[in-house]
Amino acid sequence: MVTSHTTIKHPPACELCGTADARQLWSLSFEGHPGEFILWQCQFCKVVFNWPRLPPEAVHDQYDGSYYVFNSPTERCWSRAVQTYVSLLGPLETRCPAGRLLDVGCARGHLLALARGRGWRVEGVELAREAAALASAEFDLTVRTGTIEDHAEQIGPFDVVIATDVIEHVTSPRRFVQAVKRVLAPGGWAIIETPNWGGWWRRLGGRRWLGLNRFHLFLFDERSLSRLIEECGLAVSAKMSLTSTGGVDWAWRPELAPLSDSLPPALEWRSRRLLSWATPRSMARDLHQKPPRSLDESLARVERLLANEHQKQVSTRLNGDNLAVIARAEARGSLSETGLSEALT
Ligand SMILES: [Zn+2]
Repeated sequence: MVTSHTTIKHPPACELCGTADARQLWSLSFEGHPGEFILWQCQFCKVVFNWPRLPPEAVHDQYDGSYYVFNSPTERCWSRAVQTYVSLLGPLETRCPAGRLLDVGCARGHLLALARGRGWRVEGVELAREAAALASAEFDLTVRTGTIEDHAEQIGPFDVVIATDVIEHVTSPRRFVQAVKRVLAPGGWAIIETPNWGGWWRRLGGRRWLGLNRFHLFLFDERSLSRLIEECGLAVSAKMSLTSTGGVDWAWRPELAPLSDSLPPALEWRSRRLLSWATPRSMARDLHQKPPRSLDESLARVERLLANEHQKQVSTRLNGDNLAVIARAEARGSLSETGLSEALT
């Protein structure tokens, strides 16, 4: 179905800042999405968002057993869990001994199982019934089915709430962050990670960027995400970026596909080998090339990586493919403790 631009309804006021001044960026087409997938950018706060959108029930219905993330190979799940743990949770271990941790959008539970192995008391929330059932069955985890907004009144408090690759999927990022705040203990930490609109790959790849798909309804840079988090009453402590294990190998970056796709098959293979070889060494690349295959192997990798400060591989330059903002709920007494920034960088 082709819709001319003139018939597209202009989006309502920006969900984040309330300004009614959005500019249409791109009209994309994705398999499985009816019609065009149109991205707009708020001219005031710069958040990028999809409009018109599927109704919320239809958005939720997309996350059934066929959702591609839930069918990732096990090694890939462990690699990503190790990377996330070492980069984002490891630095909080000493600050929250035996801390209570909630993973929002915990998928099949790999990060939670790993964190429990490191001493955290863990729970998860997961919209997809199939993934939540697998997490409970495989790792005997407490995982509630639904959204954090559904459960915020009944659960918690938690010392740390982590949500990786979730906020870009929700229909109201503001309600999402408010729900995260509601379940935090006084002084607790929120870690929100999402594709980085301000990153180098996005600027290089434009509409080929890996971060674009029909599931991503909002795309943030560090300013728009920090602003939202602060407006919801959390104090931003640190911002960092990293490139996920699944996207680290240059041979398979969609932004570089034009280099390989135009070549004859034999040369295409060689060009991918070359791109793979040219991928800079990093923790993510090592995990991608030699992934852990089990919980025990993942725990051993975390132990080794945390012992080596140089391998954390998070960047405070904020050019990476993913962006993480760490924010704190007001502690009873004072908000002056800002040591996490140093611990995390
Ligand atoms: Zn805005």
